Amino acid sequence: MREMSTDYSGRCGNCHEPMRDNDLFCRYCGTPRGEGDFLPYENINCCVYGPPMVTTHTCTDCGYSWNVRRLGGDNALFCPECGSPVSTELKEDW
Ligand SMILES: [Zn+2]
Ligand SMILES: [Zn+2]
Repeated sequence: MREMSTDYSGRCGNCHEPMRDNDLFCRYCGTPRGEGDFLPYENINCCVYGPPMVTTHTCTDCGYSWNVRRLGGDNALFCPECGSPVSTELKEDW
């Protein structure tokens, strides 16, 4: 089920990914909280089966680390604390 939404509470204004309460930057595109175009996004409600994948990211710049639960893996690219690019050591086994 999909529905268009402009509810940006707790979401990035640029890529629409959910943000934590204490995140200062979007971890997926590096956009500071409160910035972005805030265009309507498609709110996708999908059925989730099985345990979510948990990934731990650590910022090499400020040392901030956080856990991410995300279906299909995680693609965080930026530290939510300082906005620095994050280097992940995720294997890509296809
Ligand atoms: Zn974003
Ligand atoms: Zn950082």
